[in-house]
Amino acid sequence: MATPPPLPARSAPAPARRAGTVSLISLGCPRTLVDSELYLGRLQRVGFQVVDAVEGSDTVLINTCSFIQESIQESIDTILRAVALKKQGKVKAVVVGGCLVQRFKQQLIAELPDVDGFVGVDGFEDIETVVQRALHGEHPESLRSRPRLPHRGGRVARTPLTPAHYAYLKISEGCLKGCSFCVIPKIKGPLSSRPLEAVVEEARQLVEERGARELIVVGQDTSDYGVDLYRRPRTPELLGRLARIAGLRWIRLLYCHPRGISDELIQAIRDEPVVCKYLDMAIEHADDAVLARMNRGITQAVLRERIGALRAEIPGIALRTSIIVGFPGETDPAFERLLAFLREARFERLGAFTYSHEEGSAAFRFPDQVPDAVKQERFDRLMRLQQEIAAAVNARAVGRTCEVLVDEPDPVDPRQFVGRTRADCPEVDGVVYVRSRAPLAPGTFVPVRITDSYEYDLVGHVVEA
Ligand code: SF4
Repeated sequence: MATPPPLPARSAPAPARRAGTVSLISLGCPRTLVDSELYLGRLQRVGFQVVDAVEGSDTVLINTCSFIQESIQESIDTILRAVALKKQGKVKAVVVGGCLVQRFKQQLIAELPDVDGFVGVDGFEDIETVVQRALHGEHPESLRSRPRLPHRGGRVARTPLTPAHYAYLKISEGCLKGCSFCVIPKIKGPLSSRPLEAVVEEARQLVEERGARELIVVGQDTSDYGVDLYRRPRTPELLGRLARIAGLRWIRLLYCHPRGISDELIQAIRDEPVVCKYLDMAIEHADDAVLARMNRGITQAVLRERIGALRAEIPGIALRTSIIVGFPGETDPAFERLLAFLREARFERLGAFTYSHEEGSAAFRFPDQVPDAVKQERFDRLMRLQQEIAAAVNARAVGRTCEVLVDEPDPVDPRQFVGRTRADCPEVDGVVYVRSRAPLAPGTFVPVRITDSYEYDLVGHVVEA
């Protein structure tokens, strides 16, 4: 493994009592970010000071991802960087948590003896002990075979890792679907929903105490929320309850399996003004034979019908999806059928990935693996198509006035600010560059007249009162 580049830095307020300083690197998805906030919340509560820079901190806590090979490599590189710093005496202890630990427990312990502590995806209740014992050279491990969902109710100690005005709200862990390319159920276990009252209570806390104006609802599959606890999906009802929280302006629903897009859910998104007319619904593919091999439990015809229902019931809705190209057995005609479907569906937002051959997934044993060069060629063709669609979608916004949530001053051009419309999720979608006579504080909502567009981003100016 190559010598890794220097580690990133971060920031948080300092508590009075000192149990040591801790820095954190959160890798992977927003669901892991929520876990990271929980880890820090618990550590701060017992007197740890959360610090910016990794170098010089007593403990560096790395919350890892292991969804696909690329994220596994990034996690390992990050751990090796931290271990290198420890050998240079720039940190005292390295503690590793998250999905990489859950997936490769014993292997990691054997191959990374310089790591001082390991904690699995459900180690919330142990994090203080693990860090304290790691600092005392006891090499603690907190690993359970079956993940348990934390904080089923009551107050939640989370240290913000996002700007104050938006926060992720995790409503469940694990998944019941069993897609053949996916190892998440092996890492996170079957679906485990949080009680509805606990979710609403946490949401209220995030709005009233943290100042969140936008809540982004996450889970592995948010369309199935409640099926395990209440024997029926309660996502529509949850959206309705969240929409009643005073001070909350935007609710955004991510990670919705298309199979779970019921008419009730469509109505809830349509009828609740606070719910963004935006839906993240990963289809992964659109060719029936490939969908069947992926065990997605859905056909192209049903996808077409659900997308049609969403667009008919909620005109102007922005649909985000994600696609895997190069799945075992994906033929040229199957790929052409996928492209044809994307030309027709015209997703406003799309992320694509080349198939990752994951040990432990059902597809790992499938014949007809697609060569990497073919995967890459298909990925490039698909992204070229999506750039055309995205540019056309954005061009339609020129001349309109949109509500924009300001995220930050533009780091490049001090005369402007960076924000998002209801159709833009943080970190994954485009932004709006906003010109304004007056300075705009992060978390401010402003009416912006769109004057220009690019493939993924928009440009505009504040409509002065
Ligand atoms: S729905 Fe998502 S998390 Fe669940 S198995 Fe499929 S890809 Fe994995």
